[in-house]
Amino acid sequence: MRLLVQNAYVIPVAGPDFAGDIAVEAGRIVFAGPEGSVPGTFAADETIDATGMVATPGLVNCHTHAAMTLFRGYADDLPLMEWLTRKIWPVENLLTGEDIYWGSLLAGLEMLKSGTTTFADQYFEMDRVAQAVTEIGLRASLCRGLIGVSGHADAALAEGCEFARRWHGAASGRISAMLGPHAPYTCPPAYLKKVVAASEELDVGLHIHLCETRTEIEQTKAEYGCSPIVLMEETGLFHRPVLAAHCVHLSEADIEILARRGVGVAHNPQSNMKLASGIAPVARMLAAGIRVGIGTDGAASNNDLNMVDEMRTAALLQKVAQGDPTVLPAGLVLEMATAGGARVLGLGDRIGTLEVGKRADIVLWNVNQPHLCPAHSYQAHLVYSAGRADVDTVIVDGRTLMRNRRVLTVDEEAVLRQAGRAARRLIESV
Ligand SMILES: [Zn+2]
Repeated sequence: MRLLVQNAYVIPVAGPDFAGDIAVEAGRIVFAGPEGSVPGTFAADETIDATGMVATPGLVNCHTHAAMTLFRGYADDLPLMEWLTRKIWPVENLLTGEDIYWGSLLAGLEMLKSGTTTFADQYFEMDRVAQAVTEIGLRASLCRGLIGVSGHADAALAEGCEFARRWHGAASGRISAMLGPHAPYTCPPAYLKKVVAASEELDVGLHIHLCETRTEIEQTKAEYGCSPIVLMEETGLFHRPVLAAHCVHLSEADIEILARRGVGVAHNPQSNMKLASGIAPVARMLAAGIRVGIGTDGAASNNDLNMVDEMRTAALLQKVAQGDPTVLPAGLVLEMATAGGARVLGLGDRIGTLEVGKRADIVLWNVNQPHLCPAHSYQAHLVYSAGRADVDTVIVDGRTLMRNRRVLTVDEEAVLRQAGRAARRLIESV
């Protein structure tokens, strides 16, 4: 399958922007450059005229719980622990594999229609999530969430390992797996050590929530006499590739450990704002050399999976928090949401930029619109002016999943109907 995208304004994220073409063969970018860079001998099976469009790498959502779309608008305006224990966990207990399948497809549709091509997910019934990812055509890094304090802790770990064995590298390489210890306050050190050993044996990374709230910091201090980051360091977690969601409350010593260990951080500004968790020190982390990507977190705490909006929030929030309008400029935020996110997920050599050799995950944005005119800086426009409805076409692994905002892989109406039905049944029976 050979695909040609012509006449686009291309923001490759690696290297300078250019007006030109991108050629894709067998899912991989084989030419990218100004007009004339693609040889006349390249015989495309599909050609997209991208006049009036900007091409960027697909957005990477570094942290979410896809099927929680079913709880969108069900429990809002509560503190994190109360929200979890009184509202979310009781209804999550009722979720079936079928519910998770439809919830994940709903999330996949929402992400696809807002320019996200890759997401990192931590949940359960992950076979059904992987099935949804396979069908819709997105790329994902998936892990089964592990709660070490529950009676099913060891069974969950066995299940998580089995999932990783079955799905790592599946769907033509679009699915990768991690192990997903939920958080230090739900996974004691002895359990985490088992998870670390398993991740080493399977050669996969770890996806964990870290330092999300002040309560978590205080509890860890009271119980172990140190910060969650120091506790994780002592437990040996950071000997493995780690994707750490949140990292809101960090000391200078914590930042030094994260930088030295090469931990990847998923910054979820809207979820942190909505749950009043705080503001992650993103500028300080970046200055220390920590890799930071952007995520939405689940739809029950955001309440959408809109990375376009999340980019703008990340930029604005950090500026106001630092009292400095120069931090997180537009180009850097776009880099964090694409190449940065890819690196955080351990996929930096495969996706995140529009370069020859990379897998072809491409978003075409319709910029021929009043709110994106004039064309002084498309990088600034995407971060400060664009909305998700400006995403026109989405290509993942060289395959066109959406064209002119029409989704080509799944029946959108059926997904809305089935997900709505599943959500209603759950809320009625809790
Ligand atoms: Zn989360």
